[in-house]
Amino acid sequence: MNVTVEIEHRATDPQRHDWVCRSCHTHSDLAAMRELLYVCPQCGYHARIGARERIRQLTDPGSFTELWSGVKTLDPLGFVDLQTYPERVLEAQGKTGLAEAIVTGTATIADTACVLAVMDFGFMGGSMGSVVGEKLWRSAELAAGEHLPLVAVCSSGGARMQEGILSLMQMAKTSCAVDLITDAGVQFIALLVDPCTGGVVASFATLADICIAEPGAQLYFSGPRVIQQTTREALPAGFGSAERNLELGHLDAVVPRADLRDKLGAYLRLLKGGEGPERGETRGPAGRGTGRLAEAALDRAQAVAAYARRALVRGDRESPDEAQDAPA
Ligand SMILES: [Zn+2]
Repeated sequence: MNVTVEIEHRATDPQRHDWVCRSCHTHSDLAAMRELLYVCPQCGYHARIGARERIRQLTDPGSFTELWSGVKTLDPLGFVDLQTYPERVLEAQGKTGLAEAIVTGTATIADTACVLAVMDFGFMGGSMGSVVGEKLWRSAELAAGEHLPLVAVCSSGGARMQEGILSLMQMAKTSCAVDLITDAGVQFIALLVDPCTGGVVASFATLADICIAEPGAQLYFSGPRVIQQTTREALPAGFGSAERNLELGHLDAVVPRADLRDKLGAYLRLLKGGEGPERGETRGPAGRGTGRLAEAALDRAQAVAAYARRALVRGDRESPDEAQDAPA
């Protein structure tokens, strides 16, 4: 079977001086687009951006300190398709300038300190292999230990096939990482950006206390084409879009890119207990939110994480009620 893959130019490609909107095909000056955060001035299309650019946009200037950049992937299966797995990793590293499909560290967002994990779809489709899982785990451990909120920017095509079952195991590992921070009373915010699919959307990305997305982002487990070919049924309009996910209650908000830094800062302060900087006061160390919204969000996330953990231990046949009653 022949498979055609459409590869888009990265918005940050240094070889290009103009930028072409993928949606309305308008040409814009690349330098101007950097100022516009790579959002099309004509139609509002939010272009895909790399992890470094995302960090530039979200964090306060100079506040990001990268951690665990030296964690590298092995080739446990000796996987070969048209290239060996190590060759593919090297190619992705050369293309993106990143060591892996996730960049992790600490930063401040609108003056609020956090642990930050940012995925990059340009690195092997943002696939979640062992290194992505490990760096997400370490980020959660640091967040729990230092009592800092965790912010994850999630963009992924799903599991990394070159790592087989080891890649799928990262879904359980990262879900447990969310438990780790929930048990520590630390907050977790996920920002889902285009595209966020497969094993990432089915694990840590949707277990956050607050789950938001960019306009137009495609968010689903399986793509519409795969579902349509399998079920032979037409899918509803807007299937998988951020806006449709918001309508269905899977998201808390859809936030335009220009508002993201301020909005994330507001959420971080809300989850800390609702104090705004405008009140000029804080109430001790960050802990369980004292605001009702924050408590409701945390309770909901904890219930989901608890169910996921039990379901993993007991298999997938029980109903949610049975799993709820079972010992952990
Ligand atoms: Zn456009």
